[in-house]
Amino acid sequence: MSRFPVSTFFKRLHQLIGVCLLAPLCAWAQSPLDADIARIREQVRFVPDKALLLLQHMEPEARIAPPLTRAEYLAQLALTHRSLGKFDSALALAEELHAYGRSQDNKIIIAKGLLAKAYVRSAMNERQVSHELAFEAQKVANTTSDMVLRVQSTITAGQSYAEQGNYPVALNRLQSAVELAHQVTEDKVPLASALNALTLLYTQMREYDKAWETLAETFEVSETLNSPGRMSIANNTEYGLAIDTRQYKRGMRALLNNLELTRKIGAKRMIATTLVNLSDINLKLHEFPTALRFANEAAAAAREANDESIEATSRINAGQAYMGTGKVAEGKKAFALGMAYFEKTGDKPELQALLTEYGQALERVGDFQGAVEAYHRERTISNEMFEAQRKKAIWELQEKYDTEKKKRQIESLSHENVAKSAELNARRLQQRIWWLLAVVFALAAVIVGLLYRKVRQANAQLEVKNLELKAQSSLDPLTSLYNRRHFQDYMRSHNQVERRGANGEDIVGALFLLDVDHFKHVNDTYGHAAGDAVLKMIAESLRVALRETDMIVRWGGEEFLAFLPAIPRNGVDEIARRILSCVSTMPVTFQDHQIHVNVSVGFAPFPLAPGGTPLPWERAVNLVDMALYLAKAHGRNRAYGVRGFENFEQTSMEAIEQNLEQAWRAGFVDLTLVLGGAPDEPPPSNVVPLKTKTGN
Ligand code: GH3
Ligand code: MG
Ligand code: MG
Repeated sequence: MSRFPVSTFFKRLHQLIGVCLLAPLCAWAQSPLDADIARIREQVRFVPDKALLLLQHMEPEARIAPPLTRAEYLAQLALTHRSLGKFDSALALAEELHAYGRSQDNKIIIAKGLLAKAYVRSAMNERQVSHELAFEAQKVANTTSDMVLRVQSTITAGQSYAEQGNYPVALNRLQSAVELAHQVTEDKVPLASALNALTLLYTQMREYDKAWETLAETFEVSETLNSPGRMSIANNTEYGLAIDTRQYKRGMRALLNNLELTRKIGAKRMIATTLVNLSDINLKLHEFPTALRFANEAAAAAREANDESIEATSRINAGQAYMGTGKVAEGKKAFALGMAYFEKTGDKPELQALLTEYGQALERVGDFQGAVEAYHRERTISNEMFEAQRKKAIWELQEKYDTEKKKRQIESLSHENVAKSAELNARRLQQRIWWLLAVVFALAAVIVGLLYRKVRQANAQLEVKNLELKAQSSLDPLTSLYNRRHFQDYMRSHNQVERRGANGEDIVGALFLLDVDHFKHVNDTYGHAAGDAVLKMIAESLRVALRETDMIVRWGGEEFLAFLPAIPRNGVDEIARRILSCVSTMPVTFQDHQIHVNVSVGFAPFPLAPGGTPLPWERAVNLVDMALYLAKAHGRNRAYGVRGFENFEQTSMEAIEQNLEQAWRAGFVDLTLVLGGAPDEPPPSNVVPLKTKTGN
């Protein structure tokens, strides 16, 4: 096992940073302050506590120095803090440097600030950030003419690529760093740095021939620099390469050289580390007494450097050395002391590795019981680690599950919320639509109701009006009797059926047509109004004389028609007499005048059926009109009635209608005559039958 604390590449980067800034003299070192800072650089890595004191001392002067001086001061202060493990303040100082560069708009200072930040982040094990900063630093530095800075940033970028495992690019960068460094004639530190970095890269790439070759160049250049720090770094690089190529003797020589150098510088921690490595390499060479001596020296140096970790490693190495010389009890004691530290710090992986070594050592010296115990302890720790890892894994899984579960719950809740609010909105909308519809329906119902009422009222009014109109259209305005049109309508829609009375008597309808006699004379004598009054009086008289069921019609100007639907056949003449009488016995008083009128009447039963065929009502009325004409012609105030026909086969209805009187005289028509009485006289009681023969 190698007790080689600076063997990782990560730690080599730290080493290199120190190297880069270890130059005793620099191109920019012009003022006394610059020279002071340059001298302190040597101490920053190896004796940072001392460097800090010196830097603090020069702070007031540095703070007001020109920008580049002030920048270099800040850079060294940041790196000192980093070497002391004060990462927070180191980072703050690096940030200050970077910000200062920006405020000065100075690319050199900006690049230095970026580099300082990269180194601090690297020490803080924040590799990714560190790499990005290093790449950026190189970009900025390449825009400047500061060759030293450009070499330094190219080296750092190359080492960052190596850490990323990108060896081709890393190699390219470090080779170009070497070339760039060759161009820096006034200072060989950059070249030494670049060569050292290239050696380390070749070692890492297991290109051992090239590594040895480059290491030789590194030494060549470093030796010209007269710098113990520079040489110490080269020696460490040699030691690493020697161990990797199992050249332990060479490794030991490098370490012994390094011991001398670190002692010269007074770097306590470096001395302790070198001594531990010496004990380790002697263990490998089975030089147990020498190994023990170096281990004890290392423990003392570590105590002086106040580094418990190195001290513990020294104890372990001492334990191994004791075991190697057969001093089992001392060996066990030393092991126990060393392992106690790792138990205290809880560094289980380290403890596990140590217990394995411890067990093997005990086995070698024949302490099998001790070996088994060590083995059991190792197993326990291994199990604990496994358990812890398992728990961590489970916890991480659980946490992930919980987080995802919560996420899912939140998602589903939000989905639910979205769905619910959508549903609510939909319901609200639906309700609104229903309300709207209800309102619309209610309004529509009200409107329809109102309209319906209006329509009903209008209909009722219309009906009344219609009735009025109908009445008006069927009534004569002067006499309020039916007019001629109404009678026509009536007759068209009524069948004429002969009926019989209850006692077997012949019930017939009858038509009476009246014309006022000498009515013109009334008009002429008393005026038209008097004539009207007379017409009204006649209408009234007829209403009184006839029945309600009889239809009285104003047929023309001063002509009236009465249709009696049902009377005994032998009562027809009597009705004619009553009509004549009712008019003549009712004088009209008009403006102090008594006006007497009478009428002539033609009448006939209805229907009439000459030859058995009933006459249409129009022809019946025409026949009655002929009878009326006869009454006029025979002296007025009388009525002629057609009773029937005789020998109808010897004549025709047309012939009869042509000349009723002639037809009567020829004996084809049976007529009756009813005479009206003189005014103011009772009407004549007899109805004259006119069975007149020719020549009568
Ligand atoms: P007769 O019938 O006896 O032969 O003699 P008349 O005087 O009645 O003769 P005619 O039938 O020719 O005369 C009818 C007159 O009745 C003519 C007209 O001026 C009058 N008349 C018709 N209608 C009305 C009416 O509504 N009012 C008035 N005052 N007179 C009317
Ligand atoms: Mg007339
Ligand atoms: Mg007349």
